Amino acid sequence: MADTAGLRTGTLAALLRDICGPAHVITEPLELRTYECDGLTSHRAVPALAVLPSTAEEVAAVVRACADAGVPFVARGSGTGLSGGAVPHPSGVLIVLTRMRRVLEVDPVARRAVVEPGATNLSVTQAAAPFGLFYAPDPSSQVVCSVGGNVAENSGGAHCLKHGFTVTHVTGLEVVTPSGELTWLGDGTGAGAGYDLLGAFSGSEGTLGIVTKVIVKLTPAPEAVHLILAAYDSLEAGGRAVTDIIAAGIVPAAIEMMDALSIEAAEAAVHCGYPAGATAVLLVELDGPAAEVSAELALVREICERAGAREIRAADDPAERAGIWAGRKSAFAAVGRLSPAYIVQDGVVPRTALGDVLARIAKLSAESGIRVANVFHAGDGNLHPLVLYNDAVPGEAQRAEEVSGAILDACIEYGGSITGEHGVGVDKARYLPKMFTADDLDTMQLLRCAFDPASLCNPGKVFPTPRLCGEVPGHHRGGVQPAGAAGTASGAEIF
Ligand SMILES: Cc1cc2nc3c(=O)[nH]c(=O)nc-3n(C[C@H](O)[C@H](O)[C@H](O)COP(=O)(O)OP(=O)(O)OC[C@H]3O[C@@H](n4cnc5c(N)ncnc54)[C@H](O)[C@@H]3O)c2cc1C
Repeated sequence: MADTAGLRTGTLAALLRDICGPAHVITEPLELRTYECDGLTSHRAVPALAVLPSTAEEVAAVVRACADAGVPFVARGSGTGLSGGAVPHPSGVLIVLTRMRRVLEVDPVARRAVVEPGATNLSVTQAAAPFGLFYAPDPSSQVVCSVGGNVAENSGGAHCLKHGFTVTHVTGLEVVTPSGELTWLGDGTGAGAGYDLLGAFSGSEGTLGIVTKVIVKLTPAPEAVHLILAAYDSLEAGGRAVTDIIAAGIVPAAIEMMDALSIEAAEAAVHCGYPAGATAVLLVELDGPAAEVSAELALVREICERAGAREIRAADDPAERAGIWAGRKSAFAAVGRLSPAYIVQDGVVPRTALGDVLARIAKLSAESGIRVANVFHAGDGNLHPLVLYNDAVPGEAQRAEEVSGAILDACIEYGGSITGEHGVGVDKARYLPKMFTADDLDTMQLLRCAFDPASLCNPGKVFPTPRLCGEVPGHHRGGVQPAGAAGTASGAEIF
């Protein structure tokens, strides 16, 4: 294990100051605590030092310096991740990309933009808007989360039901490989021959290298947008409307649902004016050519009514729509008003199993006495149960963790996944063996080793048992792992 104090004052720190300038290398332990966690605060580690490069060349030089010194490094965008992916390595360097936040180019003819990794998701749409274009992936954190972080997590968002996740909208990546080489994956056209390394990089959670530029597709702004809010007396009735809308052949831009607890929280936080006393609120957004939207609007209204909606509202005015969306987009943070602590869970189930899994969650909540608020991307079966607990009450955090794990078990049982869009990070590595065999996991790590044979790039994340590059596939059976002995990577020693 590298000597962290030595790193702060030693040769590597001096080298990084030469590369990025003294003001952009942080060594003070107190200042370093700013970066000790991401949006999931239950996993924390203070890095040995943090560096804030301003160009791709600086990132490459920083990574080369780390590789030469055998020191682990972790990329960080805006730190809004919810699975601990950007948690620093305690003996490593945190490479913070927030100074690289420009939208470098918008090409309205080719409908694409070239963006630095630290640019916020929303800033891309803001730069494209004057040309009648927008950047479709829209995580609810879009005001702050970075495009580089979105690529690393293959992030989704409310409108990904129709428009697709981040990977669908990225056609080229400039990356720094774990050995410090600056290269391109994808040529910006979305075509190309050979292995789809750009696809492999998307969603790789910072374990295959560092993104330094992103070429994204821009989508023409729709002619018409209509948002429908339908309130129900039960989640099941709302779920029925979701199934019937999709079965009718309609693919809305978004279908989101919130339960009573999350409605209560959002109402208190942003006064979104959702119908009082509703047990479930369904938001359905339609976009596209005006004639199509108007025909679908009538049909969706009818379906929502047939499923038992107690109230339906429709809005096409942008300000009115934004007001309704504010409730949904603020839901995660708003739940903080109901509980001093909570776990934001992320799992997926087939859409047809939504009702059963929500009933299971309600049962788990009743049996454990742990409240669960549900906010979810209903259209693609992506659940976000918010498991509420009071960390001042002995044992409650543990029970919340158990409920949270049992929810993921239910997702797997119904043919779903332990993550829909927040990634595995450090938090869910322990659940991965429930979905994959040891052989599957070993095979996946062959890809990781091909990019990062020295295991220095975001080590300890995603995989429950880090596979040592150069080792034949199989389980580790204790003993000192070569990477650990070299003071580099081993998830077990970090967390
Ligand atoms: C309130 C709230 C709402 C959210 N809503 C959504 C949502 O609707 N949909 C959704 O998908 N997610 C959502 N998230 C999760 C989070 O915002 C996304 O995962 C986002 O993409 C993370 O971006 P970031 O810049 O904050 O990345 P970070 O948290 O800084 O990092 C995330 C991961 O990406 C890696 N990384 C960061 N930058 C780079 C880079 N340049 N190159 C290589 N690896 C890199 C890090 O090492 C880490 O593994 C939400 C989070 C919050 C707090």
